[in-house]
Amino acid sequence: MATRWIFGNQLNHDLPLLQEANKQDDVILMVEATSRSKWKTYHKQKLVLVFSAMRHFAEELREKGFTVDYREADSFDQAFKAHRKDHDPDHVFYTAITDEPMRKAMHKWQDALPKKITVEVCSDVPLFLLTQEEAIEAIGDKPYKMDRFYRKLRKERNVLMNGSKPIGGKWSFDAENRKPAKSGTTFPDPVQFRPDRITKDVIDKVERDFSNHPGALDSFHWPVTRQEATRALHCFIEERLETFGTYQDAMLTGEDTLSHSLLSAAINLGLLTPEEVIRQVEAALEDQDAPLNAVEGFIRQILGWREYMRAVYLAEMPDYASVNALRHEADLPDFFWTGKTNMNCVAESLRPVVEHAHNHHIQRLMVLGNFANLFAISPQQTADWFNEMYIDAYDWVVLPNVLGMALHADGGTLSTKPYIASANYIHKMSDYCKGCPFHQKDMLGEDACPFNALYWDFIDRHEKRFADNQRMSMMYRQWGKRDADSKRDIRKKAKALRKQLQDGAFDIP
Ligand code: FAD
Repeated sequence: MATRWIFGNQLNHDLPLLQEANKQDDVILMVEATSRSKWKTYHKQKLVLVFSAMRHFAEELREKGFTVDYREADSFDQAFKAHRKDHDPDHVFYTAITDEPMRKAMHKWQDALPKKITVEVCSDVPLFLLTQEEAIEAIGDKPYKMDRFYRKLRKERNVLMNGSKPIGGKWSFDAENRKPAKSGTTFPDPVQFRPDRITKDVIDKVERDFSNHPGALDSFHWPVTRQEATRALHCFIEERLETFGTYQDAMLTGEDTLSHSLLSAAINLGLLTPEEVIRQVEAALEDQDAPLNAVEGFIRQILGWREYMRAVYLAEMPDYASVNALRHEADLPDFFWTGKTNMNCVAESLRPVVEHAHNHHIQRLMVLGNFANLFAISPQQTADWFNEMYIDAYDWVVLPNVLGMALHADGGTLSTKPYIASANYIHKMSDYCKGCPFHQKDMLGEDACPFNALYWDFIDRHEKRFADNQRMSMMYRQWGKRDADSKRDIRKKAKALRKQLQDGAFDIP
């Protein structure tokens, strides 16, 4: 008899592991392991999502005629021992795992198995577009380039192509996708899902067994089944894709989602495949006259960024987890877990994370990542926070996004320049500065926006590393024009700000 073991982020009916299963003889094993759920203090909504989606998936498999052994256990090892006692498998199949800590745990488990049990690892396509081997091959040699990777995949898979040329004559329409949204602009609400009996049971379990974990659980509205996730995709395409491109980088008070899809959690769990999402959005170009800048911009996120991040992770782990090229060592402040800070842009970016375990890309990159970079916070502490607090977080996607894209802690392996910004950028792209006690235009005053002095201090501190970087030459020219007194004042202010952060000056009690 064979066991087919399905993990919590592999919930897809088209997995090769399921396609090859024999419904008469094989048993599907699924485990809600408490110890795994406590590897980090995950946001309560993340735990509810994973457990609820697993329980729904197990029900769907049973309805399809599979025998499912679903266990709530302290650990995977304990669950497998009990499963073996009941079912005595000769073979175990599981789907390839991308996350390094989980891969290691499975190798350890496998090493301890009696020789008579054979183990086979099946392909993880369709959870990703590429197998792990194809992904490593596709990013090629260093320096890695997302654009090169993205064009290659578009050509090979014939996505948004007109023969050998990109539709619209350009590979990217990003230049059209950087518009701020004026105060008062409204966006259609994303579809929300009401917790059913299964989800309510899981909410009770999480409130009981994980009460010390962060995050609110008053309103849970994430899709937990394929059916719900498919509805979320269709509603996004019909109602919100049109303005996805234009407002991709915008931030607006109280508008937590703007035109973002909120699909990452469902895709990362396996409820939707990247292939189907890409093909349906591509089809909207003709079927629904969706604008090309929105369609291309969206497809680049999934075909490009999502696959690229995973490829970098696969090629660079395990060393990638400990990179700290800029030698940032400060502690992440406690208000990251509560959202209670007097820096308005940071508070507005943290609020949706505490409430729903999600915020959008520009808040992640240009507010919170920027904050951590400019305040010289430890990249590993920052990555741990992202890993704990987000509904869509997994090691393979957090580490490249946080350590590489947001913090440049990998020294440029993933992207050529750090994404840092002074208040000017945040003011241009949002209305956050209006409601902030700190002054967006001031650099040195008591109520000056901390991002201003810290931005130039970052430029100064890392001059050796970035002065010759073409994409940063303008900043270094500007910095070079300042006289010695001005540079000294900025350094002094930045030092004081870093001390103030540790002393709690940006906390709201
Ligand atoms: P949309 O804006 O609607 O984008 C569409 C889809 O594209 C997303 O659903 C996602 O599947 C994909 N995507 C877009 N950008 C990226 C990217 N950089 N990497 C991988 N996939 C991408 N994404 C996660 O899935 N999990 C994370 O833990 C995560 N952490 C991040 C941390 C930082 C510091 C940054 C800068 C980005 C992070 N991202 C992460 C990428 C991106 O911010 C989220 O995928 C996106 O905000 C999810 O919301 P959405 O579904 O509404 O995305």
